[in-house]
Amino acid sequence: MPELAEVEVVRRNLVDWWEGRAASEVRLLDEDLPKESAPEQFVDALRHVVTEIRRRGKYLICAFADASSVVFHFRMTGKIIRCASPDVDYARAGWRVDETGWLVFKDQRRLGEARVFEAGEIDEYAPLQRMGPEPEDVTLQHLRDHCSDRRMLKTALLDQSIVAGVGNIAVSELFWRLQFAPGVKCGELTDEQMQALIEEMPRYFNEIIDFSMADEIRYIEEAGAASEKSPFQVYGREGEECPRCFDTIEKIRVGGRSSYFCRRCQR
Ligand SMILES: [Zn+2]
Repeated sequence: MPELAEVEVVRRNLVDWWEGRAASEVRLLDEDLPKESAPEQFVDALRHVVTEIRRRGKYLICAFADASSVVFHFRMTGKIIRCASPDVDYARAGWRVDETGWLVFKDQRRLGEARVFEAGEIDEYAPLQRMGPEPEDVTLQHLRDHCSDRRMLKTALLDQSIVAGVGNIAVSELFWRLQFAPGVKCGELTDEQMQALIEEMPRYFNEIIDFSMADEIRYIEEAGAASEKSPFQVYGREGEECPRCFDTIEKIRVGGRSSYFCRRCQR
């Protein structure tokens, strides 16, 4: 499942592969990909020159020369890859860009989506409007204002209106790095601990982005949990040794989602 880092990797690829150019041919292979927009609208939008590709949280936003935009969300397994042809497994759309080849929206679970917005409409799109700051822009004041003392820090961080782009993997990894207990409540953390979290978030995401840069992003579910290639210290590593104290990594459910942690160093 994508988090901020995976979407950012796709964004950087698309800046190289697509920005400043238009697709010469567009094939929509699954009419369910465009949400709340007609299939023709999606095809038509992609025929314009892309002027900017940006990311907000886990959303990828492609702005076109006619002031329309297409917003992609990858959900569970979506990704955009570069291929020689759009005839690849799980392709839902493909568009050909000169000198790049085919860009293909590939999505095994078919939960990803694309939304087309005409000029100005994107400003009204609620998920983007309500989204909290990017991890690098979060301040202590912002966290204290938006996280009640009794709320679990984990559920607060997963709330996209508080911080954009943080997912379940990032929470396990950040908590391990900072030695926070998986169920810690916002009010139990000192300002110094909150500040450490604020500094660690962008550092963590930048490390994962650097590690993950490739033509095709690999979700941990695909790579196989705990594979040697995983950049994660605890996520997906239940039963393995904690890299810090060599105790055993455990997996429990916190706030309805799995948390991986070391009982000895995260009290
Ligand atoms: Zn440990």
